[in-house]
Amino acid sequence: MPAINLTSNVKDNLDFIMHVSKESGQPVQHCYQCGKCTAGCPVAFAMDYPPNRIIRMVQLGLKEHVLKSQAIWLCAYCSTCTSRCPRNVNLARVMDCLRGMARREGIQLEGRAKKIALFYDCFLDTVKRNGKLYELGMMLNYNLKTGHFFKDAGTGLAMFTKGKIKLIPTKNENYKDLAQIFERIEEMEEKC
Ligand code: SF4
Ligand code: SF4
Repeated sequence: MPAINLTSNVKDNLDFIMHVSKESGQPVQHCYQCGKCTAGCPVAFAMDYPPNRIIRMVQLGLKEHVLKSQAIWLCAYCSTCTSRCPRNVNLARVMDCLRGMARREGIQLEGRAKKIALFYDCFLDTVKRNGKLYELGMMLNYNLKTGHFFKDAGTGLAMFTKGKIKLIPTKNENYKDLAQIFERIEEMEEKC
């Protein structure tokens, strides 16, 4: 990371810092870097920046680095960090907020972040269409978009023969209501 004047960086990115606090509803500035969140995080070992560093980077207004990080996508929303934080920062919500911001700002995702975001899209697409998850459709869509056409084919076949996944999707009786909820959320996101 090239040298950055952090004092002026905070001033230049006050909007970002305030926006993260407001949208996540979390007192981001209360974090005093004790590191308990990172110590308990089950996926910190795989992150490019550990959870406490993500919060610090938000405090310092390092918007681009935060929104391009793999860490915000690797977060599993398990809330271990949240339960451990002595400053009552719900870090899981902050991570969720940052993912939303990255999508809205059109950040070009790379590596695992790109695949995780695509997985979310494929998952939500089947829920939007059917009102519930259609596993086979989601797997095929994901494999098609990642170019790994036969990924997990063996597992899928084994699950199918045991009746664990269905060939034809079935709809939740309230699928139209759920589709409307999706539409409303998309409208709200456009206004953010
Ligand atoms: S546990 Fe809370 S106070 Fe400690 S570093 Fe993590 S977010 Fe900050
Ligand atoms: S919610 Fe995310 S950041 Fe917090 S402990 Fe779980 S995986 Fe780690």
